Amino acid sequence: MSERTDLSKWALLSIGAAVLTIALKTLAWWLTGSVGLLSDAAESVVNLVAAIGAFIALRIAAKPSDDDHNFGHAKSEYFSAVVEGAMIVVAAGFILFSSIERLLHPREIESVGIGLGISVLASIVNGLVAWKLMSVGRRFRSAALEADGKHLLTDVWTTAGVIVGVALVALTGWGPLDSIVAIAVAINIVVVGWHLVRDSTMGLMDTVIPDAERAAVDRVLDRFRADGVDFHDVRTRESGHVRFVQFHMLVPGDWTVRRGHDLAEDVEAALRADVEDLHCAVHLEPIDDPRSYEPWRR
Ligand SMILES: [Zn+2]
Ligand SMILES: [Zn+2]
Repeated sequence: MSERTDLSKWALLSIGAAVLTIALKTLAWWLTGSVGLLSDAAESVVNLVAAIGAFIALRIAAKPSDDDHNFGHAKSEYFSAVVEGAMIVVAAGFILFSSIERLLHPREIESVGIGLGISVLASIVNGLVAWKLMSVGRRFRSAALEADGKHLLTDVWTTAGVIVGVALVALTGWGPLDSIVAIAVAINIVVVGWHLVRDSTMGLMDTVIPDAERAAVDRVLDRFRADGVDFHDVRTRESGHVRFVQFHMLVPGDWTVRRGHDLAEDVEAALRADVEDLHCAVHLEPIDDPRSYEPWRR
C-alpha cells in the first residue's frame, strides 16, 4: 500500500463546523423562541452525524493493508460518500415537501431578522469548510471528503435560496416566489445527492479507472511492445484513491525467468511513474503457447 497522509483531520474540521452551527442556531432559538430555528439546528445535527461518519471512514481508509484486507482499506470512503449522498437526497426531500406545502397553503413569512442572520453566519462557516474539504478531497482523491464538502455546500445553497426567495417576494410582492425558489434549490440538491450515491456505489462495484489514466497505462504498454513481447487481458479497477491494474505479459518462450522478470519490473516501474497510487499484477507467459491467450477468468 502506498503511504498516504491520514485525511481524517479534515473531517474533524467538518465536525467542528457542525458543532459550531448547532450552537449558533440553538442560541438563536433560545433568544427568539422561533421553532424554525430549532428545526434548523436539528438539520445541522445531520451534518454532525455525516462528518463523524466521514471521520470514521477516513480513519479506516488510512490503515495499511493487513492480514484481513490484503488490498488495503481505501474503499471504506465510498460507504461514507454513499451515506452522505443519501442524507442529501432525504434533506432535499424535506425542503421539497415543505415548499410545496407552503405553496399550496400560503402563510406569512416568519420574522426573518435574527434567524436569517444566524443562517447566513452558519452558511459562511459551512461554505468555507466545504470549499476546503472539496479542494483537499480532489487533491488526494478522497471520496469521503469531497462528499462531505458537497453536503455542506448544499446547506449554503439552501440558505442562499431562502435569501433570494425573501428578496424576490419583497421586490415583486408575489408570495409564491420564495416557495418556487426553494423547490428549484431542492431539485438541484437532489441531483447532487443522486450523483454522489451513483459515483460511490460505482466505486464499490470495482469500476474501471478513469479514461485518462487507462490511456496512460495503454501508452506505457505500447512503448514496451516489441518483437516477441506483447500484452493482453488488461483489467483495471478503482478502489478509493488506489488504482489496480493487472495484465498478461507475453514474451518469447525461450527467455530465462530472470530476463522476463527484469522486463516485468521495468514495465511496472514505468506504469507507476505515470499513474499515481497504482498497484500492478503481471502474469508472465510464453507467446508461443496457445494457452497464453486464455484470459484469467471468463
Ligand atoms: Zn517481481
Ligand atoms: Zn494470457
